Amino acid sequence: MAREGATTWSAQTIVPPLTLPAHTSMLTGLSAEQHGVYWNYWMPAFGTLRAQTIFMLAKSNALSTAVFSGKDKLAYLFPTGSVDIVSFPLTDPRDFSGTNVFSARDVAMQAVKYFEQRKPHLTFVHFPDADMAGHFYGWPSPEQYAALAECDAALALLRSGVERSGATNSVFILTADHGGDGLAHGVDRPQDMTIPWIIWGAGVRRGHSLTNPVTLPDTAATIAWLFGFALPTNTVGKPVREAFQ
Ligand SMILES: [Zn+2]
Repeated sequence: MAREGATTWSAQTIVPPLTLPAHTSMLTGLSAEQHGVYWNYWMPAFGTLRAQTIFMLAKSNALSTAVFSGKDKLAYLFPTGSVDIVSFPLTDPRDFSGTNVFSARDVAMQAVKYFEQRKPHLTFVHFPDADMAGHFYGWPSPEQYAALAECDAALALLRSGVERSGATNSVFILTADHGGDGLAHGVDRPQDMTIPWIIWGAGVRRGHSLTNPVTLPDTAATIAWLFGFALPTNTVGKPVREAFQ
């Protein structure tokens, strides 16, 4: 998909390069300063999300939405009623302790089953495997490459499910919330900040290397632009128009 679509391997995530702040930027188009989410775990005392996500915007525009996540802390981004279906893993990723415990395929199979029945307009699918393997074995490590291969296999399930459903005008955006080095991530250094950003599907330029800089908040802006919505004017994310014909 990276070869066939429009791709950069040097997109940048936000500071801090941590799961919850970065996903908030991915789905709102805002910087951390703007959305205020600096914590990387969730507890009730943090209150509810103040920023508007692309999923809230889609819902208020009467589009159907679905979320399949491999980490339960991402529930923070999808408050009750803001998405048609939200599914979190059966097992807690914090229990991860071996190369054979992967959940990308489970997440993908749930997503495919729902997609084939309902064909939601906007779907978020999160694979936790590479991050979990990174924390346990290191960035990069043979075990992490094995985890990435699992994600790739899960993505193949997802893509063939979408194709089977006949949704021929679909667009996939494949990216990451952060990189890492050693057993951790979270600081402003290239190993943590650099992420892939791949877009593939209907209307996307084929075999194009993106030359303009891409940042994680551009994800929400690109989705909004594809659907014809306007994000708030203060968003730092901008549509990656270069990716389209
Ligand atoms: Zn992590």
